[in-house]
Amino acid sequence: MIVLYCILGVLGSLLLFMIIRTILTKGAPIEKTVFVPYGVDKDSVATHLSEAVKFKTVTLQNPLDETEIFYQYQEYLERTYTHVFSIAKKKLVNRYSVIYVVEGSDSSLLPAAILAHQDVVPAPEEGWIVPPFSGAIMDGYVYGRGSQDMKSQMIAALEALDILLKDGFTPKRTIYFCFGHDEELRGTEGALQISKYLQEQGVRFEFALDEGGTILNGKMLGIDNKIALIGICEKGYADFVIEVEKPGGHASSPTRRTAVGILAEAIYDIEMCPRSTYFAQPTKDLFKAVAPYMKPIFKFLFVNRDILSPLLRLVLSKADPLTNSLVRTTMAPTQARGADAPNVLPSKAVANVNCRINTGETVVQIKKYIEKIVGDRANVRVDVGSVDPSPVSNIKCAAYDVLTKTISEVYGGYVTAPFLFIAATDSKHYYPLTNNVYRFTPFEKTEDDASRIHGINERQDINALAMGVEFYIRLYKNLCS
Ligand SMILES: [Zn+2]
Repeated sequence: MIVLYCILGVLGSLLLFMIIRTILTKGAPIEKTVFVPYGVDKDSVATHLSEAVKFKTVTLQNPLDETEIFYQYQEYLERTYTHVFSIAKKKLVNRYSVIYVVEGSDSSLLPAAILAHQDVVPAPEEGWIVPPFSGAIMDGYVYGRGSQDMKSQMIAALEALDILLKDGFTPKRTIYFCFGHDEELRGTEGALQISKYLQEQGVRFEFALDEGGTILNGKMLGIDNKIALIGICEKGYADFVIEVEKPGGHASSPTRRTAVGILAEAIYDIEMCPRSTYFAQPTKDLFKAVAPYMKPIFKFLFVNRDILSPLLRLVLSKADPLTNSLVRTTMAPTQARGADAPNVLPSKAVANVNCRINTGETVVQIKKYIEKIVGDRANVRVDVGSVDPSPVSNIKCAAYDVLTKTISEVYGGYVTAPFLFIAATDSKHYYPLTNNVYRFTPFEKTEDDASRIHGINERQDINALAMGVEFYIRLYKNLCS
């Protein structure tokens, strides 16, 4: 009985501690500054994006392929943003990637890098309400492949500097525009080569800003507000090829186990043994930043995330594929292949398992884990293009402060938070040039619009696009004045 009372006493005290901690946790008041727009001509920027979409800059599947389209696209930018390009120095890298440098007046300041990719994923016409490379402007949107990912961001960044230069602004800090041409493949022909070139030149950046987190409705995290998410790192990426070899033959007299059957069993076991969940540091940083603004129950759970970690990880892993991807390395079987004909026993069955690796784990570790699961049933090898998780960017520095300040000036009243970006971007290649690499797309997006990226009827909201231009105007002023 005494033991029972002691246990209840300890649990009661712990609960009380957690409740008090929840009550005492308060976020900094969110400033609701009244935003005074610089005055961006919406029609003009929409037309510029529409024109940009018309260039079919689809990623080259073979890096050796020849094309003129990237040069034509660059010429378009150069003749559209004359204030920028009359002073920018241009350097082509590995044929189609390009760096434009706008020299600042104060050479003691480290330059800023504005990153974007010129390439887009293919867009078969089926299902589109307008041809995917028409750049049609309809109902307040610019339609077309690349209208979101990511010509909108490139156009907004250039439009903003062009407007400022036209009005007589002289940037103190040098600005590098670095535009790769194969982000949608791996970025190894574009961004990686740009980064190598800049390293050879001894360039260091104050910060680099690329596509990434965006402004979302906070409901999923129990917040009655919008959240601006800044990607401070990205998950690793690996395709593991799982191969089973067995003597082939005629399917009329099969062996008891075929290569396909054994492969299927191995793949099933991989699905049944997900990697353990854990909170990587960027995910802890996210929860720390958003917890004070959550509704009471959510706030209680997330403020006490250290004590309730096992429960919270379980809930997040089950709640939604997106929250699951925040707390573990994911392993998704994506392809499988057996014999070429239906009546043939394959001598080899092959599957692909696509893994997105959580910060803190590595490609080598995940390979060992998969090998342990499949045992001697199959051979496991890492396909080309695998990459460990990126380093984690600094969030306690002037560069990060400038970014969050700019966001709150333009989108006053929103919660801003760092997070682990689960997709891949070009920005991972820039860590040798700065530890302040951030992934933020300054556009408000509905879930519907966000789901069209890489899909059919991709479109960019024109009001959001104009706000994105306002964002870059503020950013240049805050960074370069
Ligand atoms: Zn992109």
